[in-house]
Amino acid sequence: MKKVVFYGRYSSNNQTEQSIEGQLHVCQRYADQNDMQIIAEYVDRAISGKTDERPAFQKMITDSRKKQFEGVLVYKLDRFARNRFDSAHYKKKLKDNGVKVISATENISDNPEGILLESLLEGMNEFYSEELSQKVNRGLAESFSKGYYMKKIPPFGYQIIDRKLVIDEATAPYAREIFERYNKGQKIVKITEWLNSLGMTNQLGNKWRPMNVSTHLHNRTYMGEYYYGQFEKPMPVPALVSAELFDSVQEKLKASAHRSHQKSDYDFILTGKMICAECGHSVSGSTANKKDHYYYCRHCKKESRHCVPADDLHEKVFAALSEYLTEAKIDELASAAFAVYEKEQYQDERPALERELKQTEKQLQNAVEAVLNGFASESLKAAMQELEDRRNRLREAIQNAPPAMPKFEKEYFVFLLRYMAGMQGRELLDTVVNHIILKKDDTVIICINLTDENNLPPLEQILFTVSQGEGRWFK
Ligand SMILES: [Zn+2]
Repeated sequence: MKKVVFYGRYSSNNQTEQSIEGQLHVCQRYADQNDMQIIAEYVDRAISGKTDERPAFQKMITDSRKKQFEGVLVYKLDRFARNRFDSAHYKKKLKDNGVKVISATENISDNPEGILLESLLEGMNEFYSEELSQKVNRGLAESFSKGYYMKKIPPFGYQIIDRKLVIDEATAPYAREIFERYNKGQKIVKITEWLNSLGMTNQLGNKWRPMNVSTHLHNRTYMGEYYYGQFEKPMPVPALVSAELFDSVQEKLKASAHRSHQKSDYDFILTGKMICAECGHSVSGSTANKKDHYYYCRHCKKESRHCVPADDLHEKVFAALSEYLTEAKIDELASAAFAVYEKEQYQDERPALERELKQTEKQLQNAVEAVLNGFASESLKAAMQELEDRRNRLREAIQNAPPAMPKFEKEYFVFLLRYMAGMQGRELLDTVVNHIILKKDDTVIICINLTDENNLPPLEQILFTVSQGEGRWFK
């Protein structure tokens, strides 16, 4: 059972708003239906104040570091953040602690371009750096030709020094040993256990997961080839393993992809994105005989259960997206995201919080002086306590607050979309795809985060047929 927490917010200025009790009730029902247990409740009721202080929200963000819960359940996503940048910032913070934000009422969001923008902003948290942004605008090629590493976080076993990728002597032997162990036949799950038993963390500072090891083994950077964005040729970087070892590992990986997968090795990347056309429930992944991976709807009757081989479906989804994402289409998506970005009012709340903190500290100081001068009274004591609480809340909010939103050009969104299109991974799905509909006749509809010219659904769609023949029906 998944452990989650509830976050609720209520501001009295909106009459039609769902009460906290109502929000909690809906979330509780959702949790019951989805095998989740709510282990804590964080609630912000209307709080007057100059800044949009959300003490319970801040506490929830801080508490996520303890890694006692895997999800934050909200009634609606607008309970979570005030704008897309905010949302991307806090979601990333939670994600780094293995926590997902789950909406109890919105399976499909009604603002596709907003999701597109948010996802791009989230991507930027990883890729963004002031230098990079300037480089993009001035010409990325120059930076690439100088051999600068483009991401903020280096792969495990490396460091970034003077913007270049260099071997990190402390972790490099382990990065190498991952390849050696796999090459000798050790399973990815076992390698993951080994790394965690050493107390070793991955490059994000988290516990290793099989997926991280798999990504590691596939990363060509380790043999000295760094691929980036639209550049066809790789940039040479210091290699950690020989080309022979790397190639041998790739062959074994390929063979294992055809052979049997451990269930935990297999990544059902469409989970949470795909909907059954028959009943509207989400379609989940399942493994049969330890080697056959399928998607099927658990809610449809067993006799009429429709199964699609996962590998096949993944391949076709990416092939369809690849065909769809022409330069013109990327430009259109970037424009749509940029339009939302420009419309969104974003105010850096840090200066206001800091002003308020200063003021609170001053008042507290005055109160302390009053006490020292012999003016102690019960009401003064109570006021001091309140000021202290307020000071602590403000400090927490400042610590968690997003940085000032950087100024983005549309070009940057184009660049990021191109990069994601090249990577063909989960980031691309999360950014571009709103949801996927799986029909009984093997037809698959991919709905893109792009509405038509009237800003109305239906979303822009791609249609294709997935697979024919054997293995369609789950016995
Ligand atoms: Zn169904």
